[in-house]
Amino acid sequence: MPTYEYRCSDCDTDFELEATVAEYEEGIDETCPECDSQQTTRRLGSVMISMGDASPDGPQGGCCTPGGGCC
Ligand SMILES: [Zn+2]
Repeated sequence: MPTYEYRCSDCDTDFELEATVAEYEEGIDETCPECDSQQTTRRLGSVMISMGDASPDGPQGGCCTPGGGCC
């Protein structure tokens, strides 16, 4: 079951909620457990972001192929 991380903007408490994706899409209770505030924001800390593979020696850019043939 995925865990969703939240932070309360009223008391700066971090808390986690477990819900299935279906439950999450229906809307889960995001109330802060410490102060009952609903000023909570979803944290994305545990989400892997694997965009922008900036490998310095990758065969990308320019017009040279990995086989060594430049145009
Ligand atoms: Zn709170």
